[in-house]
Amino acid sequence: MAKYKVEIDRETCIGCQACASDAAGTFEMDDDDIAIVVNQEGDPPETILAAAEACPSESIILHDADTGEKVYPAG
Ligand code: SF4
Repeated sequence: MAKYKVEIDRETCIGCQACASDAAGTFEMDDDDIAIVVNQEGDPPETILAAAEACPSESIILHDADTGEKVYPAG
């Protein structure tokens, strides 16, 4: 069971490729140079969280897979 439900905000992603580098099992860049989620469980949860925290535009949104509650970014 996945820990997170991972989403990308395509409106704010700046295409820096950091997530696709840091968590390559989860994120790839699409033809528009916007990140996409290719596997919700492509990396350990801590790696996915670290990628979200490293995203310069906070475009990686994590929800608790069980409760649906937003986990990151806070607020
Ligand atoms: S780290 Fe953030 S801004 Fe950079 S490609 Fe991934 S989602 Fe887009």
